[in-house]
Amino acid sequence: MKYRFLTIFTFIIVAFVFAGCANIPDADKLSRDISTYSIEATLDYANKTLSANMELNYHNTSSADFPELKFHLYPNAFRESATKYIAVSEVQKEKAYPNGFSEGSINITKVVQNGKELNFEIAGEDSNILSVPLDSTLRSGDWTTLQISFDLVIPNCNHRFGYGENTLNLGNWYPIACVYENGNFVTDGYSTNGDPFFSEVANYNVQISYPSELVLASTGEMLDESVDASTTTRMYSAKVVRDFALVFSEKFELLSTNVGDTKVDYYYFDDENPVDNLKVCSEALTTFNNLIGEYPYKQLSVVKADFLQGGMEYPMLVYIASDIEKIDDYRNTIVHEIAHQWWYGVVGNNECEYAWIDEGLAEYSTALFYDENPQYNKTSRQVFGEALSSYLLFCDVYRDVYDDLDTSMNRNIHKYNTETEYVYLTYVKGVLMFDSISDVIGESKMQKALKNFYAKNMYKIATPSDLIEAFESSTNKKLASFIMSWLDGSVVLEALA
Ligand SMILES: [Zn+2]
Repeated sequence: MKYRFLTIFTFIIVAFVFAGCANIPDADKLSRDISTYSIEATLDYANKTLSANMELNYHNTSSADFPELKFHLYPNAFRESATKYIAVSEVQKEKAYPNGFSEGSINITKVVQNGKELNFEIAGEDSNILSVPLDSTLRSGDWTTLQISFDLVIPNCNHRFGYGENTLNLGNWYPIACVYENGNFVTDGYSTNGDPFFSEVANYNVQISYPSELVLASTGEMLDESVDASTTTRMYSAKVVRDFALVFSEKFELLSTNVGDTKVDYYYFDDENPVDNLKVCSEALTTFNNLIGEYPYKQLSVVKADFLQGGMEYPMLVYIASDIEKIDDYRNTIVHEIAHQWWYGVVGNNECEYAWIDEGLAEYSTALFYDENPQYNKTSRQVFGEALSSYLLFCDVYRDVYDDLDTSMNRNIHKYNTETEYVYLTYVKGVLMFDSISDVIGESKMQKALKNFYAKNMYKIATPSDLIEAFESSTNKKLASFIMSWLDGSVVLEALA
């Protein structure tokens, strides 16, 4: 199905004069200029708790001086008393807590700077922010080292942070520095919609001790392993990544392969087609290496996990939900989550403000995957056609229910009325927008623009302006008002018979 777009204003496509050319940043060099989290953690698997000491060597790369630092405390969204920044909505409760409500939390026990214990504050509307007034102001360009000790209570919850029947998931589990932007630390709290996370790239050294009967999948590369009685201790390192996640299971089996310099591990249980599913992982990596640009890490772990929302992306590691029944859906999720390694992982964005960047591009890249891998009997045209009809149906239904329909995409994650609205405006309208840009500029320019956007924004935080800039400079076309008409909701999609 083809469709046309109508805007309430006229947009003009004007030739631009120059084309951009981007150099790939040197990750080793960058790693010396960014903050490093060194975490030593011990998992008490019987009690589902974890205690950790974290040393953060923090670099103030902003132009401002900091009298304080702020950190997200995402596990506190799993507290019983959390009311606003919560992880689980009413409608998700049954799926999230099959054994009834179970509380999770993070308790900060000590913060030390330069050998001196600091007073800290648990702030935010839902105890979701750790605020640390520093011993002395951290000037722009300066470094400081903080030691933060914390304990976790891990909930019995099929979520990013929690454990289910098969896996224990540690996603968004440690205090992570809030990004400083436009004069403020960005402190958006947890949301039951989307992936409400936003962080800068950093280096991670994580030492984790856990019972030896567990198999561990982790962000990073394993540097060392020792086994002492029934406890295994592993040391992982990840350079220039946005986050660090781990998944444990007594049931994991592992299949591995290599794609270029990258080792691809597929951790699974109860899987009748592990070889075929590992093949999907390596095909996705190969396809996106070619279409977008080289995946810069030596490890990628695809992990089947107890998780209520399909899949979840972390740097070098993705969750694939164990409750996905249809094999096509399971594989589509593998491809979508791997696409996030490029969009969210290497090229970051504020997922609370501009979720359409990483979700729209992950969906669009997934559609392109099918054209490159015809064995799955699907084409991007089919994906876009299905997206359009379901989007139009969503608009009809929403117009009836709410009278007024807001189709703007540049909206904070907390400003969507429902999860459905969020999904349709970030994923579905997102993929439709990138398809319509491709219609306007042509497929080969579209590929050039994606490569250019990736190369120019590797390891950075990309904004809508960065995306528009990369697309304009790759195509010699002025696309800003066209793209903005999608984002502000003025574009109206109409199906043609
Ligand atoms: Zn996604």
